[in-house]
Amino acid sequence: MPIATTNPATGQVLKTYDAMSDEQIDAAIERAHLAYRQLRDTTIAQRARWLLAAADLLDAERDETARLMTTEMGKTYAAAKAEVTKCATACRFYAENAPRMLADEPADAAAVKAKRAYVRYQPIGPVLAVMPWNFPLWQVMRFAAPALMAGNTGLLKHASNVPQTALYLEDVFRRAGFGEGAFTTLLVGSDAVDRILSDPRVRAATLTGSEPAGRSIAQIAGREIKKTVLELGGSDPFVVMPSADLDKAAEVATTARCQNNGQSCIAAKRFIVHTDVFDAFAEKFAARMSALRVGDPMDDDTDVGPLASERGRDEVHDQVTDAVDRGATVLCGGEKPAGDGWFYPPTVVTDLRPEMRMWGEEVFGPVAGLYRVGSYDEAIEVANGTSFGLGSNAWTTDPAELERFAEDLDAGNVFINGMTTSYPELPFGGVKNSGYGRELSALGMREFCNTKTVWIG
Ligand code: NAP
Repeated sequence: MPIATTNPATGQVLKTYDAMSDEQIDAAIERAHLAYRQLRDTTIAQRARWLLAAADLLDAERDETARLMTTEMGKTYAAAKAEVTKCATACRFYAENAPRMLADEPADAAAVKAKRAYVRYQPIGPVLAVMPWNFPLWQVMRFAAPALMAGNTGLLKHASNVPQTALYLEDVFRRAGFGEGAFTTLLVGSDAVDRILSDPRVRAATLTGSEPAGRSIAQIAGREIKKTVLELGGSDPFVVMPSADLDKAAEVATTARCQNNGQSCIAAKRFIVHTDVFDAFAEKFAARMSALRVGDPMDDDTDVGPLASERGRDEVHDQVTDAVDRGATVLCGGEKPAGDGWFYPPTVVTDLRPEMRMWGEEVFGPVAGLYRVGSYDEAIEVANGTSFGLGSNAWTTDPAELERFAEDLDAGNVFINGMTTSYPELPFGGVKNSGYGRELSALGMREFCNTKTVWIG
């Protein structure tokens, strides 16, 4: 993929970049390595001041940064502004909570025959972050804020279609005070990742992206014996049971499916509805989906902007066409609009069967699959019948049933009667082919720490 800003609302290429040379990559890794030696010797309080300064810059520059993101990947301006604010909140969260998360943890000295024993969390060095375009600021920040607070340095290989957002991130951390090399954007294609991750100065990698990219990075990291965190795709179930508040469920289902123009890993994608309420839910849901306004993402009235790339839109439409050709029913949407920009209408498809692509694949656009089930057990079977296990949703007001959902849904997170989202306070990550490791909370910070046992006799 060329490294370029292309406006998805018009298809116009606005700015292109040359990929960095091997020499430039090498120099950047050396700077990250040297910066790590300095950063690990700074105090947590100093790093917290820099992270708070980054939060203030993000707040002050919210509107321009949001406009940049909308121009590069098409999310609505309102969603982009909210993303910038969420990043500032995460910086403040880690600045305030890192002292607690990184504090030594005393162990039972007598039990281990020591005078004193404790666990210490120390940084490990430069970490490579390979990131996607869909939340171009947030995906990076949820790695960078805890990593920098812990004393690691970051090397960012961002998606090739968001180079200006990538450069902005480096700039924010530098201006906040972190210093040369603490956080560096590498303008490179994915073909450079092997070389970077194989470098002995780079100690670990985190990837948010697709399954194939995750497999590739895990292979390299396995060969090099380096830690990885993988945040991969999802095909989240959204189960609606007879006791659910159907109006609320249909409203949240619409937002959950179409947030970020349908391009979120934790978007609800498969709507699994009990037969007793199937027709009522389907009607409410399709009505809400078709009422969404598709258009210019800078316009305040727009609910759904374009998909980020032409290839992405073609893929979504191919998945819908495949289902229709094999007998599925379209309740709304499903037509690729003519004209400029990579728009796609909110679409609801039902009568899905296992031989259709939509049954097993992640659909990365505003397209909902609707499934009818006859019982709780069947709902769980369909919900868990996927290779993914990132987020999951269930709607029920039956107290016993909601406890069962929390136990039985095979996913990294379960949200009952509310939309799946990420919070700095809660761990975020998946099981099965959605990846491994956790981001956010104390767990996310400690993924890239040396958890050192200290025993003093
Ligand atoms: P992608 O193609 O995997 O790209 C993500 C990043 O990986 C980009 O920087 C990309 O670089 C790079 N990359 C791609 N192939 C690679 C390879 N073989 N080796 C090394 N790096 C490689 O993903 P996408 O299609 O842009 O993003 C959508 C996917 O990300 C969806 O599956 C979505 O569910 C997932 N996602 C997951 C989460 C989560 O938290 N679990 C969050 C957001 C998105 P180039 O741009 O240069 O190709």
